[in-house]
Formats: sequence, structure tokens, C-alpha cells
Amino acid sequence: MTGEKKYWAAVLERDSLFDGVFVYGVRSTGIYCRPSCPARRPHRRNVTFFRGPEDADSAGFRPCLRCGERICYAIADSPLGKMLVASTEKGVRAVSIGDSGWALESELVKEYAAAEIRTDDSGLHRHITVLLRYLRGKDLSLNHPLDIRITAFQAKVYNALRKIPCGQTRTYAEIAAAVDLPRAIRAVGRACATNPIALAIPCHRVVRKDGTLGGYRWV
Ligand SMILES: [Zn+2]
Repeated sequence: MTGEKKYWAAVLERDSLFDGVFVYGVRSTGIYCRPSCPARRPHRRNVTFFRGPEDADSAGFRPCLRCGERICYAIADSPLGKMLVASTEKGVRAVSIGDSGWALESELVKEYAAAEIRTDDSGLHRHITVLLRYLRGKDLSLNHPLDIRITAFQAKVYNALRKIPCGQTRTYAEIAAAVDLPRAIRAVGRACATNPIALAIPCHRVVRKDGTLGGYRWV
């Protein structure tokens, strides 16, 4: 590839201006990265440059988990305001609701600073339709592929949340007991407050012991 000197300088400087211009594969690890990847810099002699992820894929390299990630998103009007749905190839990564689409976008970009983010209305159409039906109360079960990065503990809590039938509530203490950690009530509350996808994993069905709504990230 021409311009390799320039590309190597961009890699050494982790220059994000070159993200999207090329990726580099590291032969000793078989992984490819974007120029701004926070990972340790490889030896120059192990590095091959590619025009994009597709070229690196077909040369047999695997995407770096710290930066190879691609997220697409779309914004739709929902009964609760603007709804942003973001997804990876594996499933929905985040759903957020707010007054302005612009603010939701910038929040997404900030949260996934290392990812390649682009809009994709048609690709996300199916997810959006399902979520809107759910919000309008027309579809009460939300069995949807999810791709959220969470700890094993959060996964347990969210699985327990998804089992609460619609219209019913549980307390944090009941959820803690359901995940066999009856003393972890505060941690359950924290997991609910940081739930990246509150619509699909409905924290609003969990209430504090006094009956008020528990930690709830949006709305
Ligand atoms: Zn990387």
C-alpha cells in the first residue's frame, strides 16, 4: 500500500484522524486494529496495512476486541421521546431515550469512543419495530438478541429481571435472592441503575421495598 510511512506514523501517534482510512494487521497476533487503538504498539516488522476491515478479514486477520467493533444506530420517534437504538452484528447493544436525537447521538459516540459508529436506518428497522410495539404495549414479551457487555453478576441480575412477568414487580431483595446472593441488594440496585438497555431488560418492574421505583437509567 502506498503511504505506509505516513500510516506507520499515524499508528505510533494513535491518530484518530486516520480511523476509517486504513487498518493495520499484526502478523504475530493475527489481529487487526484501527490507528487509534489503545493497545500496545506492535513492532513495525509485524505490521501490514489494509484499506479497511474487509481486506484485513479476507487476509485472515481477526478484529481487535478493543477497537474492531462496529456499531450502527438509528433514531426513531417513540411514545416516550426520541429513541436511539444501537446494534452490533450480534444484536442490540444499547437503547436510549431522550428529548433530542442529537444529544443521544453524542452520548453514544462518547460511550463507544473506540468503535466505528455509523447510522443505519434500514438495517435497524426490525429492532425498532419490535421496540415500538413493546413501548406501545402491543407486544409484551421482548425476546430479542442482545449484545451488551456486562459482568457475570450483571448478566445474572438482568436474566432475573427478564423473567419478571409484565405487570408484576419485584423488590431488589427478591432479585438478590433469585440470583442466590440474598445480601447483594445494593449491588442489584446498582446493576439496575447502570442497565444499558432498560427497555429490553425492564428495571421498571423492580421496586424498592417501600414501593417506589428503583434505580432507573432513563425516562
Ligand atoms: Zn485494536
